[in-house]
Amino acid sequence: MIALSSQMGQEEKKCREAGFDGFLSKPVRRKKLYQLLDRMLGKRRDGDKKDEAEAHKIMSPDSIREKINHAVRVLLVEDNPVNRKPAGLMLTKAGYQVEMAHNGLEAVRKFTEAPKKYDLIFMDIQMPQMDGTEATKAIREKGFDAIPIVAMTAHAMKGDREKFLKAGMTDYLTKPIRREEIFSTIRKWVS
Ligand code: MN
Repeated sequence: MIALSSQMGQEEKKCREAGFDGFLSKPVRRKKLYQLLDRMLGKRRDGDKKDEAEAHKIMSPDSIREKINHAVRVLLVEDNPVNRKPAGLMLTKAGYQVEMAHNGLEAVRKFTEAPKKYDLIFMDIQMPQMDGTEATKAIREKGFDAIPIVAMTAHAMKGDREKFLKAGMTDYLTKPIRREEIFSTIRKWVS
């Protein structure tokens, strides 16, 4: 929280004591504002001081990103609840809108019913009824070329990458899925 005041002197000290994180005197100069934002956001980035991170949450890069993320809708296709639940939670907490499917058939149905609803699909490979490769082929065969489909697989073997790409997948992640990987993949494919 940044205090804005046209009064100088003691005012800044008073504001800090009241709990403001920063102080700007009016009229606000562009350079001063940017420097202050940099300093405040940077603090969050460097520190693993949790309380401070919490206190700065409103201004943190994460919460700004969260607002942007909110517009991104992900279809998470995974049969195993042990993987599905934490991945779903991770995405939801980061601000993404998440729809789940439990197998390939459900994924194809959910996606083709409302293709405009989704910006990206995370697709598990090994699933009952219809696996991820088949589901991806089915979606591509229906003419949906643009939707990024990212494979998730536990044991990436040599030649898997080629197999996935040939099936029409856009990218792939190796399980266990790590937070940063999942987010950077979304940023990479959803503009
Ligand atoms: Mn599976």
